[in-house]
Amino acid sequence: MYKAPLQDRYRRRLNYLRVSVTDRCNLRCVYCVPRETIPRMSHLEILRYEEILRIIRIGVSLGITKIRITGGEPLVRKDLLPFLEQLTHLEGLTDIALTTNGVLLQDYLKPLQAAGIKRLNISLDSLRRDRFAELTGSDRFDRVWAAIEAAHGMGFNPIKLNVVAMRDINDDEFHDLAALTRTRPYHVRFIEYMPMGNPNLPGDPYMSNDEVRQRLEQKDILEPVPRSGNDGPAQRFRYPGAPGEVGFISPLSHHFCDTCNRLRLTAGGKLRPCLLSNQEFDLITPLRAGASDAELSAIFIEGARLKPMAHGLIAGGQKVDARMSSIGG
Ligand code: SAM
Repeated sequence: MYKAPLQDRYRRRLNYLRVSVTDRCNLRCVYCVPRETIPRMSHLEILRYEEILRIIRIGVSLGITKIRITGGEPLVRKDLLPFLEQLTHLEGLTDIALTTNGVLLQDYLKPLQAAGIKRLNISLDSLRRDRFAELTGSDRFDRVWAAIEAAHGMGFNPIKLNVVAMRDINDDEFHDLAALTRTRPYHVRFIEYMPMGNPNLPGDPYMSNDEVRQRLEQKDILEPVPRSGNDGPAQRFRYPGAPGEVGFISPLSHHFCDTCNRLRLTAGGKLRPCLLSNQEFDLITPLRAGASDAELSAIFIEGARLKPMAHGLIAGGQKVDARMSSIGG
């Protein structure tokens, strides 16, 4: 009999697990990690692939159907492809997606396709080479853009481009970024900046997505796209007749906590029910101490049950852990 025991106290069914496979990254995005060296987790502290697969298998037996592989930068972890291949063969998963900064993507496209990955999310906060270098600490815009176009040419679909919307930092590019959807089937998604304690950003870069949308609509109308069952938290729009979509993900101004179906597995083997709450449940210690599947399932179920109703930034009073790179954005 099919069971879905991953349900919280507020009757939310949790079927989506975001898995951070590494805390390492080849970029230093201003809003994500501090520019000074942050202590990296040792290899021993990071879950091995077979451990991640075991945890995912247990999650699937409890009702997880959707997985996103993230990081850090997932493509910097050695031997990611054989891991992904095993993942795509797991029965019970209906959706496997990858979030990447795109720097190493071009060389991975063929094997990713062969491994059965179709859905890509690529972070892209600027279309200007110099600004991209400033925001990420690395002059790799051309490589990332070439990878995006190559992925499109190879039939990856959907290709979602994630833009963190930041006042006085990239707000003069919103039109150009959204305009990509007029000629290509990309989904350009504006994500509200989350103040996660990063010291690199001057002033207050937060902009609500209502403001982003108003700015876009000063030039041209955006039509709502009818919602479908698989929609995540993005509010979806399109320019009339355009092949692509413009989306808005608004964790602060229109938080989606009441419909949140996500759990996270950190690179260090902790189950984290909410990105923006520091509460975590240790899986790696019992797993390495020989816990049975039933014992690990019990931790999963308890972690899911105790998922907070709303996240720290709106619930207030909590300092949110800034290690986005090991939690996985
Ligand atoms: N390295 C991959 C990448 O760049 O897409 C995956 C990890 S990254 C942490 C995942 C996502 O988190 C990116 O789209 C990034 O823009 C977003 N992110 C990180 N810090 C953020 C913040 N303070 N506010 C909003 N989004 C953030």
